[in-house]
Amino acid sequence: MTVAWVFDDVFLAHRPLSPHPERPERARAIAEALAAADVDGRGLRLPARPAKSDEILRVHRTAYLEDLLRQVPGRQGWLDADTYFSERSWDAALAAAGAATDLALAALDGRALRGFAAVRPPGHHAEADRAMGFCLLNNVAIAAAAARAAGAARVAIVDWDVHHGNGTQAIFWDDPTVLYLSSHQYPFYPGSGAASETGGAGAGRTTINVPLPAGAGDAEYAAAFDEVFAPALRGFRPDLILVSAGFDAYENDPLAGMRVTADGYRRMAEVLRQVADEVAGGRLACVLEGGYDLHGLAACAAVTFEVLAAPETPRPAPAGPARILEAARANLEATKRALAGAWGL
Ligand code: ZN
Repeated sequence: MTVAWVFDDVFLAHRPLSPHPERPERARAIAEALAAADVDGRGLRLPARPAKSDEILRVHRTAYLEDLLRQVPGRQGWLDADTYFSERSWDAALAAAGAATDLALAALDGRALRGFAAVRPPGHHAEADRAMGFCLLNNVAIAAAAARAAGAARVAIVDWDVHHGNGTQAIFWDDPTVLYLSSHQYPFYPGSGAASETGGAGAGRTTINVPLPAGAGDAEYAAAFDEVFAPALRGFRPDLILVSAGFDAYENDPLAGMRVTADGYRRMAEVLRQVADEVAGGRLACVLEGGYDLHGLAACAAVTFEVLAAPETPRPAPAGPARILEAARANLEATKRALAGAWGL
């Protein structure tokens, strides 16, 4: 099998205390879309096993894990103004981190080169010592650290969620072995992600941010992927590409203001699959983050799975005439300037 997928009913058990956009119906919508795409017949289903403490502690502080263990299992409440927990949220959070980790390890040990994990709660806002923005554990960061521990020399994380992954950026800020690339609405929650944020002094510009103005859509994201992400990934040559696969840049998303279509997400996935084939041995693992319009979430997750499962590497469509929003063009150039020649940019 070359493609793996993860879904488990435990991801339905993390339940908001009052109406909230990050709700179990999201996972159900994706599970239905994946079933319609015949994932069982085309991929290897990995169990959503709980992450182990030593895996979590590669990226989170001991005191934070102890705090969560005291507050969360079997209870309900709030970790910040946005981030709720219910009786089984801890089971879901451990399974989300474990699923992301196993997807990464399966890519490295050859069980499945590519994969998609439909997990919740999401992870990319969670910092080493702080829950934030619906996120308890940073699933993709825990997976990246596990990949490094399993022998990957370099890991890249592409974050196409509409929000900046402040947690992932902070966790790997000083780490030259993990390249973090994010495109996101800016200025917007959580506030970080300016083009000038390129990582710690010794990290060799391994943080890359492409902030995009509200209203950006398929053309702007295509430009970010073609002009910045793909060349940077070719320069970095990761052993594995992880994707913080949030679908809240979708045109109808109720939380954000972007205009990406399912075709736009398809193209982003195609670019990453092509680059993964070129420089990462084909290893490409997508882990769900946000996405709050159920129809868009299901459609975008399905096209992403299609790209991962396709027998041949799809060729991304030409980006077409480069008519993109002026503010997006200015930001792209600011990102390139901030990288100052790193990765050939
Ligand atoms: Zn998001």
